[in-house]
Amino acid sequence: MIEVSGCVACGRRLFPARLRCPLCGGFEFLAFYVEAGTVEGVTSLVHTLGQSLTAPVYLGVLLVAENVRVLARIDGPVEIGSVMALSFNGETLIAAQRT
Ligand SMILES: [Zn+2]
Repeated sequence: MIEVSGCVACGRRLFPARLRCPLCGGFEFLAFYVEAGTVEGVTSLVHTLGQSLTAPVYLGVLLVAENVRVLARIDGPVEIGSVMALSFNGETLIAAQRT
């Protein structure tokens, strides 16, 4: 589950949270919790700088709310349109698992 902010003035959903709404300049937000997203794109990495990875790392762009997309690490190759659960892994990484 991830927290998405919603601007009180215009309703725009934002992730990550902002101090001001980029659409209307509003500064009051409500929190919405999103448990899953729909995969819009996937790529895999097989090398990092200066070394090969022991296993591919999959990254996906997921639509989690209207106009809100996140980049998430995915647990394996998936088809576009798949719905995946979202969670924080540590402090900053969003992990997506098949639902
Ligand atoms: Zn706004």
